[in-house]
Amino acid sequence: LGVFVLVFLGLVVPVTGVAQAAWWDGGGWCGVTTQTKYTSSGSEFQQYPALLTAAIAGYAEWSVPDNPHGGPEFTYGGQNFNMRWEPAGSQNRATTVCGPFVHDIEFNSDRIDEYLNGSIDIEGVSAHEWGHAHGIGHAGKHDTQAPNSGKQPTMTTCNAASDTVLQRTVEQDDHSAVTRIGDVVGGYGSITPNSSFEDGLAFWRTQSIGSWGTYSGGVDGTPKYVVFTPTYSGSAIFADNRITNASGEKVKARVNYRRHDPASSGQVKMTLKWAEVQYSQAGWCTGADQTFDNLNLNVEIVDSATFSTKQNKYCTVGSSWNYCTTSVYTVPSHWDAADVRVVVYSNVFDGSQRVGVRLDRVRAMAQN
Ligand SMILES: [Zn+2]
Repeated sequence: LGVFVLVFLGLVVPVTGVAQAAWWDGGGWCGVTTQTKYTSSGSEFQQYPALLTAAIAGYAEWSVPDNPHGGPEFTYGGQNFNMRWEPAGSQNRATTVCGPFVHDIEFNSDRIDEYLNGSIDIEGVSAHEWGHAHGIGHAGKHDTQAPNSGKQPTMTTCNAASDTVLQRTVEQDDHSAVTRIGDVVGGYGSITPNSSFEDGLAFWRTQSIGSWGTYSGGVDGTPKYVVFTPTYSGSAIFADNRITNASGEKVKARVNYRRHDPASSGQVKMTLKWAEVQYSQAGWCTGADQTFDNLNLNVEIVDSATFSTKQNKYCTVGSSWNYCTTSVYTVPSHWDAADVRVVVYSNVFDGSQRVGVRLDRVRAMAQN
């Protein structure tokens, strides 16, 4: 049996059969469950407790996005990863090792002086490695889009080596990877972030909207849902994500919905949109480190086409929660990467008055 090893800015063992942005099952040995816990060992952590505190803070970053079914997405329990120190030369910062009998996050003890003087941000490195421990692969520099433009995913390999504060928070692309693991229906996992509005309206955007806001209680007892009250027929809420290795993916859009005003009637419209994105090997994120990264060799966008509609579905609102799903769209084989967008329109009325509709678990999904 082999052992899968993931190194931050270092050698990565190639993985076959990977097809998702910022999501990777680690050969089944990383991301065994959505639960993890940790131990720590080594004289370095005993001698420098501040390093351990910061490493634990990196672990805690992943408890921020809430599970669509309630509670933190990644919780205590489940697979134990041991955080420790291991000599690894002058290049690597840390390594996540996932095998049948070993689950380690190993910080490079050859560079402990840099960790101690702050020239390597241990919390950022720890957050990145914990992403791997949960089964999440690498993202490109550009995998996070508006409204978080300029904020790199924690799972990017493009954090500059000189950064003293590495990206450490769960951003749009990271959040999408979380929901891909935690929000799965019928063999399809969510690929857009914050699908259940458990993190409020984060990562969601609007066009020509009237009003929107989250309420307590959702479909199947989820903690929250959103009420969307459009101004016009063209008003919509939407969320995006970027998918790498998109070729051949089977995707669809899905929403859970019900009427909000008891006297209302009408339809919601579910739409799946895609835009092709091309990458080149030139750009910021190059060098020997990237040569071995099988997921995002090409990270600079050279052409990003506009979104086009791939699937539409109209669904009639009722008094109880129901779901509306588009047909499946299969991404053409020549598409290397693509932006995906899930859009919901609403034409629900009480008499002549436009009124709100309840929405929950709104997401684009890809076959796992
Ligand atoms: Zn990594």
